[in-house]
Parts: sequence; C-alpha cells; structure tokens
Amino acid sequence: MRPADELAQELGKELGKRQILLGPLSRRPPAGGRVSFMSEAVTGKSVRHLVMILGDQLDIDSVALADIDPAQDLVLMAEVPAESTHVWSSKTRSAYFLAAMRQFRRALEQKGLPVRYLALGEHQLDTLADALSHAIGKFKPRKVVMVEAGDWRLERQIETVCAQCNTPLAVREDNHFMLSRREFAEWTTGYRQLRLEYFYRMMRKRHEVLMAGAEPLGGNWNFDADNRGAFGKAGPGLMPALPRFAQDAVTRAALDDIEKHFAGHPGSLARFNWPVDRPQALLALDDFIQHRLPQFGLFQDAMWTDQPFLYHSLLSAALNVKLLNPREVIAAAVSAYHAGRAPIEAVEGFVRQILGWREFIRGVYWQDMPAMREANHFGHQRDLPSWYWDGNTRMNCMKQVIGQTLDYGYAHHIQRLMVTGIWALLAEITPTQIEDWYLAVYVDAVEWVELPNVAGMAIYANGGRFTSKPYIASGQYINRMSNYCRGCRYQPATRTGDDACPFTTLYWNFLDKHEKMLVANPRTSLMAKNVSRLTADERAAIRQQAAAALENLDAL
Ligand SMILES: Cc1cc2nc3c(=O)[nH]c(=O)nc-3n(C[C@H](O)[C@H](O)[C@H](O)COP(=O)(O)OP(=O)(O)OC[C@H]3O[C@@H](n4cnc5c(N)ncnc54)[C@H](O)[C@@H]3O)c2cc1C
Ligand code: SF4
Repeated sequence: MRPADELAQELGKELGKRQILLGPLSRRPPAGGRVSFMSEAVTGKSVRHLVMILGDQLDIDSVALADIDPAQDLVLMAEVPAESTHVWSSKTRSAYFLAAMRQFRRALEQKGLPVRYLALGEHQLDTLADALSHAIGKFKPRKVVMVEAGDWRLERQIETVCAQCNTPLAVREDNHFMLSRREFAEWTTGYRQLRLEYFYRMMRKRHEVLMAGAEPLGGNWNFDADNRGAFGKAGPGLMPALPRFAQDAVTRAALDDIEKHFAGHPGSLARFNWPVDRPQALLALDDFIQHRLPQFGLFQDAMWTDQPFLYHSLLSAALNVKLLNPREVIAAAVSAYHAGRAPIEAVEGFVRQILGWREFIRGVYWQDMPAMREANHFGHQRDLPSWYWDGNTRMNCMKQVIGQTLDYGYAHHIQRLMVTGIWALLAEITPTQIEDWYLAVYVDAVEWVELPNVAGMAIYANGGRFTSKPYIASGQYINRMSNYCRGCRYQPATRTGDDACPFTTLYWNFLDKHEKMLVANPRTSLMAKNVSRLTADERAAIRQQAAAALENLDAL
C-alpha cells in the first residue's frame, strides 16, 4: 500500500490540473460540527502527524488536511511576533492575518479537528521556527505535514527545524495555484527569456479560459489598448459603495491585540474593512463581479484623489490567504462575460491579472530565490525617505498613495508600480529597503508575490529577468492618469527650478545616467533619443537639480 502522503501529493497534483469550474464551495463550515479545543486525547502523547498551517493557508479543503485523523493528528497554528517585526509590518497587514487565522481556527474546530493554537501574548515563542520546534518537542509527531509555504525564508526555516529535530517533513504541493512550481520550471526550459505574454497564452489554452477552440475569445489575446482610460476633469463620479464586512468578537479581539502588541507600528485600523473568513470573501467576490468588473478594464490604470479603490476587485488578500481559489474567481468573471454582464475587455483584463500575472510572478519567485532578494542591478544605496512610513511629503502623488496605503493597507497596481515603485528606482533607493516596505504595508503582502513585483517590475533590481525594460515615467504620466498634480506644489512638466517636479527631474536624470543602456534597448531607444537632444547646459542643470533632490530626499 502506498503511504497516505504520497496519495495526497498525487491528489494535490490532480486538483491542480482540474478545469476552471469547480463545484460550488461550501459557504459555511458544516453546521453542528463538534467544537473541540485541543483534544486532551492528543496532548501529552506522541501524535502521528503534526499538520502545520501557516497564516496564508486558510482553506478548510487544504491538501494538508486531506488525510487528517482527529484521533491521532494535531493541527498547529501560531501567532508569533517575528512575523510582524522581521519587516515593520503595518497594523492593517498584521491584523488581517491575525483575524483571518483566528476565524480559520474556529472553522477547524467546528469541523471537529484538534488544534494547537498559539495566540499572541499567551506564549514566549518569537518565530514560527520556535513554535514548531516547541510543538515537536511536546507532541513528538512521527511526521510534520504542511503545504508549500508562500515564503522562501519560512520554508527553509521549517525544513531546518524538522532536520534538527529528526522529524520527517512532508511538503504537499499547493493546489491553490493553477500551475505547480515544477510545471512552471518545466515551462521555462522552452524559453530564453521569461515573458508574461507567452506564459499567459499557454495558461489560457491549458485551462481553456476565454477560448473559442484554439482561438482567443473576442479575437484578441489582449485588450490592453482599450484598458488605459483616465477619468476626465470631473473625475470618476459616484463610485459603487463597497460591502461592509461585519466584525464579530473574534475579529475585534484580533484588532485589539494588534493595537496592544504593535502600538508603534505604521498605519491605522480605524478603517479596517477586509473579508476575514470564507463567507465574507465570497461576498467580496460577488460584489466585485456585480458592481465593478464591467468598468475594471477601462479604468484599470487610472488614479484619483481620495478614491483609493475605484473599480479594482480588492480580492488579493482573500486570494493570498486562500479564502478564495483563483479558479472560482476566474470562473465568476468568465460567467459574467457569457451572461452579458461585463465586456470582454474588462473580463480579459481581469483574467490576465490572475491567470497570467499572479501565476507567472509566483513561478519566477520560486525559480529565482534566494538570488532575487540579493539583486541590485544598478547598485543603488540610498536610504528610503522617512515619509514612506507616514506620508508626510510635499509630493502630492506620494502623499496620496502612501496615505491610503497606511489608512487601508491598499493601493492598486498602478499606484504601487508607477508611483511608489518607480519613485524608489529613480531615487536610487537600496532594493532591500523598498522591498521591506512593500512587504510591510500591504494587506495582501506575502513574499512570493511582493518580491518579484518590486525587484522585477518596479525597480528593475534583477536587471530585466522577466521585463523587457525598466518601467520609468516622469510626472507627466502621473498628471495624465490622475488629478494628483492639481493639488501639488510642484509642476509635473518642469524638470529644473523651484517648482520642478521631483519625479520629472529624477526621470531625466535617470535617462541621462543610463543613456547607453537605454539606447541599446529597442523598447527604450525612443526615450533615449529625447535625452540625446538636450544641450550640455540643459544636462548640467538636470544633474545639479537631481543631485540636490537626491541629497535631500527626506525634505521633498
Ligand atoms: C511594486 C508592487 C508590489 C506588489 N505587491 C503585491 C503584494 O504584496 N501582494 C499582492 O497580492 N499583489 C501585489 N502586487 C500586485 C498588485 O498590485 C496587487 O495584486 C493588486 O493591486 C491588488 O489589488 P486588487 O485585488 O484590487 O487587484 P485587481 O487590480 O483587482 O487585480 C485582480 C487580481 O489580480 C492579481 N494581480 C494583479 N496584478 C498582479 C501582479 N502584478 N502580480 C500578482 N498578482 C496580480 C491579484 O490577485 C489581484 O487581486 C504588487 C504590485 C507591484 C507593482
Ligand atoms: S507634480 Fe510631480 S510630485 Fe507633484 S503630484 Fe504631480 S507628479 Fe507628483
């Protein structure tokens, strides 16, 4: 007979391959499930499997639980300070994980599973490695079982603890992704350069999403050209109201604990409104599909003062902690298209983010770690300005984006890429400092998705491993896509002088410094031509203005 672990691995693979449409997932944990706190039957004596569930693995149907036997196995979950302090995690991010974990503990217990839950403040263990090592010592499991972690650092730590304790570790494939790490690695062998577009087409065909036979539905793989709208002068107008997610006693206690244990951390919980359990996550999905998906594509890149969410889905956090499965999210969007409730441009644009970018980014992360974290292509060494942590800057675009980030733990893709991200590149910030900032402040931040987006997309620290050029833009781009510049003391079109927009100055400075590299790349050679037209005096003035800005980043 084959061991249960092997069978579960295989089951995981099968699930990973399955078609987009899953059967409906249960909206509530089974009614009348037995509530049991850590069963005394398991404590104190050796358990068979210690099933470790991490804060981003909150699926009651997880393969980690596929063969669990409540009579002899034990689930381990731990809230540890280090996960909020190894980067200076914002209150919103920590509270999201804590609230969702505690709701999940309840779901496990309602299912009758024995749980060893280490709550913040009730133990002295600092890291997840400490918690695991302590539990192995106490329960002497014959095996530790878990699903692949979302973080290279954690996976290594867990492996190390198990090796040190001489306890076998079974890591099961994470079927919440539509391509496994191994399948991604196999895919990359066919390509000299990793590019999203090839990957995305393969995924569309492989999972038969938005396909008409062998051809893409609507005749195009990509409707990007229709998806770059900005709002007119009047702005977006009245936006659909967002659902309010009720906070029960469990969620409120989690928020209180974060205030108590991490009082000095950045951000605020005053506006916390995120889905922390499966029913709330499904409500968030329904609400997006009904009210915002139809306009999602057109205004995907637009930004507006005091409008943090616009037509975005706000589903990343629920997806990343596995309260939602990407397959059901894609299926819901595709159904809206077939029902005539959303246009192809919107649905394709949305599907590309999840089936394309999200999966691609994860694959690259696992291929390139740990080197990705060390990468510093341009050798940048400046400190992150302190206003990244409080929004206290005169640059209105940064004030807006950082302000909403600290208030809600959220900024949309273009805000992250083209405002706070590009700025860090142009301002020559040390990659690890800006990477840590992104990991700390967003409610959806898990390293497998944060790091490639920052190191690879925003700051080109990995030298274009999967992008064909550095993304750079001047204040003119921000002026075109938002109304931020209207409320700013700087002028977006001005590159030198008192009113010069620091974005614009540093953009020209970047072109000037990296002219050779930009000329050599067909995707940036046009930009480089612009810099070649500058006179020597103009170049000198830009360099002088940029040097002053770079020496005084905190004062901007
Ligand atoms: C510098 C930078 C850092 C980022 N850090 C994170 C992060 O820590 N966690 C995170 O989940 N996303 C991150 N992203 C990707 C993206 O910005 C967020 O997923 C998105 O803004 C979340 O908001 P939403 O759910 O409203 O997304 P929508 O705009 O509604 O998009 C739909 C979904 O597509 C997926 N998606 C979209 N873009 C990407 C992308 N580039 N990579 C992976 N998935 C994507 C997300 O799951 C998202 O929920 C980052 C992007 C950049 C440029
Ligand atoms: S003028 Fe420059 S700094 Fe000010 S909001 Fe516009 S882009 Fe940002």
